[in-house]
Parts: sequence; structure tokens; C-alpha cells
Amino acid sequence: MQRSQGAWKISDLLEHAASMLSEAGVDTPHTDAERLLENCLEMSRTELYLRAENTVGAAQERRCLAMLKRRCGREPLAYITGECEFWSYAFEVNPAVLIPRPETELLIERVARQNGNRYGPGKCLDLCCGSGVIAIVLALELDLEVIALDISREALEVCRSNCVRHGVENKVQLVEANLTSCFTEHTQFTLITANPPYVSRTEMESGLQPEVIDFEPCLALDGGHDGLQLIKAIVAALPAVLAPGGDLFMEIGADQGAAVMRLLRESACADLYQFIDIIKDYGGRDRLVQVRKNI
Ligand code: GLN
Repeated sequence: MQRSQGAWKISDLLEHAASMLSEAGVDTPHTDAERLLENCLEMSRTELYLRAENTVGAAQERRCLAMLKRRCGREPLAYITGECEFWSYAFEVNPAVLIPRPETELLIERVARQNGNRYGPGKCLDLCCGSGVIAIVLALELDLEVIALDISREALEVCRSNCVRHGVENKVQLVEANLTSCFTEHTQFTLITANPPYVSRTEMESGLQPEVIDFEPCLALDGGHDGLQLIKAIVAALPAVLAPGGDLFMEIGADQGAAVMRLLRESACADLYQFIDIIKDYGGRDRLVQVRKNI
């Protein structure tokens, strides 16, 4: 790639970045190159093209090339920029938390689709909250008060800073705990959400992209040999912590629908739940389970 008078033109840098990323095996080299430059040069995507002939300053060039090197090592873009978008809000992320996936927006959609005041007043519970995207979006969009719970203190720090960023510190309470073990016998919630780790050992060992397995926290992904270890624990705790008429919305793996349905049916007496629904995502794969407890 030629440099004009020692400096990169934006268009050349874009092309160089895309070709390096493609060589490194990144799935979406052009989009990633654009997002990298948007971040380094503090420009929108449109500006990158409008100013394609402009040259890049030395400091910006160094920054871009350093970021490009990390991305070529397959580090996820969200960890490099420190940010990720979920439900059109920007959230801070770092390697202590899973990068929120677009599929998880389905959980928010389904909660939002329920009757207006179904879950208030009183606190809702978000298990395995990680960066806090579910709890924070529920607080912002549905005006709910939420306990965001995680076993990882580092993850809760990220969640705390996202609460501050979105001004919901007074609506989201952080709790460090192993699932529901911290609650007294009589604590119940009308809404429980969860995106627990659900990746099976086989997938952990061979089925994941380097971005995921080499950089994202194992604690947030590893669901034990069948991927169901945490899901089983949540299902076992559910009869005690779900209030009458309350809902659980839990994300599950693409092939876990039947197993999760079986677990729920076997875990409770026949009339404990009004219904159990496996909900598919827009790609037609199992993605969520909704469980409503009888009144
Ligand atoms: N969906 C994530 C993945 O694709 C896994 C998230 C989880 O285990 N909760 O890796």
C-alpha cells in the first residue's frame, strides 16, 4: 500500500486494514476496518468516505495501526474500543464480561411485550447480569427496578459503571452472589431474567471462534459438560424465588429447547407453572424460555 508524502490517506488505510483483517481470518473485514477507523479517527462511517482523500495524522495513524494489530490477533473489536451497542445504547465492556449479543435483544423484546404493569412495583431480578445490559435496558425502557446479580465482582464493576453512564444507579441494585443463594426463603420476584453461561464443554473445546474462546470470560460461557449446569441450578431454585403469576425469561443455547423443557417439567409439580414456552430467535433457533408460575 502506497503512502502519499509519508502519510496514509483514509481510503488507503481503510483498504490496508480490510486486507490485513481478511488475511487474519476475520469474518467481516470491511465492517471491522470501518468500525476501527471510525473509532480512531472519531468520524462517522459517512465521514470516512466523504474525507477519503484526507491524510491521517501521525498520532491517529499509530493508534489505528496498534488497534489493527490487536484485531488481527482476533481480539474482539468491542474489547479494543471498550464499547458495545445493545438495544441502541452504548455499554462499556472489558474482558471481565461477555460482549452482549444481538440475540439477547429478543429477551428484552419479549419482556416488553407483556402487559404494561405486570412486573411493577417491586424489584425484578436479573441473574448472571455481566455488563448489566438486560437490567439497565429494563430500567430505562420499562421503568423497572432491578437487582442485577453476578458471581463476578469484576463484572459487577463494569455493570456499575454502565449504570452510572445511563443514570440508573437508583433503579439497579448490584448484588454479588452465587445465583439465588443470598435471598431469604420468602424473597420472590414477579420477573426474573437470566443469560447464564450455557456453552457445552465440547463446544468450548472446539466449536468457538478465537474471539470468543481466547478473549471472553470462561465464567460467562462455560455451562459444564452439557452446557446445562447453571440452567439446572436456576430451574431448581425457580419454584422458591418466582412469585405467583411471575415470569422467568432465560436465554438458552440453540439446541437446548427440548432439554430445558424437560428439566422444567420434571422439576415441579404438574400445576406449578401456567405455561412453559420455548421461543425461537429470528434465525429459527431455540433462544429463550419463558416460564409463568400459576397465581
Ligand atoms: N451466545 C453466546 C455465544 O455464542 C453464549 C452466551 C452464554 O453462554 N450465555 O458464545
